[in-house]
Amino acid sequence: MKQKILVIYAGGTIGMQASAQGYVPVAGFERQVRQQLNDERAAQLPAFDMLELDQLIDSSNLQPHHWCELAGIIQQRWQQYDGFVLLHGTDTMAYTASMLSFMLQGIDKPVIVTGSQIPLAELRNDALDNLLTALIFAGQYSIPEVCICFNGRLLRGNRSRKLKSAALDAFDSPNYGHLGQAGINITLHAERLLAVGRANFNIPELNPDAVVVLPVYPGMSASVAKAILNDNAVKGCVLQTYGAGNPPDANSELMRVLEEAIKRGVSIVNVTQCLQGEVNQGAYATGATLNRLGVIAGSDLTLEAAFTKLHYLIATEPQAHIGALMVKPLCGEMA
Ligand code: ASP
Repeated sequence: MKQKILVIYAGGTIGMQASAQGYVPVAGFERQVRQQLNDERAAQLPAFDMLELDQLIDSSNLQPHHWCELAGIIQQRWQQYDGFVLLHGTDTMAYTASMLSFMLQGIDKPVIVTGSQIPLAELRNDALDNLLTALIFAGQYSIPEVCICFNGRLLRGNRSRKLKSAALDAFDSPNYGHLGQAGINITLHAERLLAVGRANFNIPELNPDAVVVLPVYPGMSASVAKAILNDNAVKGCVLQTYGAGNPPDANSELMRVLEEAIKRGVSIVNVTQCLQGEVNQGAYATGATLNRLGVIAGSDLTLEAAFTKLHYLIATEPQAHIGALMVKPLCGEMA
């Protein structure tokens, strides 16, 4: 029997049109897509229904509640479809793919996120190819995880990052091999996929103020960290340090601000500002300082995976469990 896929259009460049203010999302994407597919082409694809959100967004405006809405749409229709394709803006696509991987753990069918750098409405575009490739991966392959499919690459969602703002190969997963490629032939690296699980959905309410990001930089003052961390709503912080996880520890006032936040119950997770490699908190004396303060070493988590995992754990687990769970892979997000 032919597979049936649900395509969810949430917004993003793929369905945008030019306006006096620049590109904006517009309703009616399904009509645009069906116009591009004649019967013969459609017959070669998995069958698909399309659902368009009432409030389409440029994903720069994404809020944590959008993750709950998107995961809820998928959960409600889980039994009706063999796979899901989510059309999403590229700017925050890696955040959404990461969060969906935590909310939809143990899935036994594909959830493939895609979008494009050029709208379908433009003569020359990457929209149709990304959509068709995502549909083919979702409908014809056994992929039990949340992925990003972009420019012929199939990537683990929670390992992906948007690395290029203008090129068509915008996404990559610098710390994990590609799950598949669509070149002349389509290849799936089944050995890199997660094991088939039992769907275990958990879609908690998220407090948008609960997690903050704090990048270190030369000359950073303790007052900047204080302003960000001294808010009672803040329960988690992704600290982006240099190289192997090194902070400017000579700034003892800054270190004190971090330590005080940890004592108040804020979970601080250290990730590297480098694109590739991992945090080795203690390779240098500067990094070892963070061990003494109780900062959680984030291994090779991307910023997006660390941020969404913290949000997810804060909303679902007691604070005492967060440190241990942050360093444990839940769904392939870290080594
Ligand atoms: N600003 C757009 C968005 O993220 C960019 C894109 O889709 O490529 O929605």
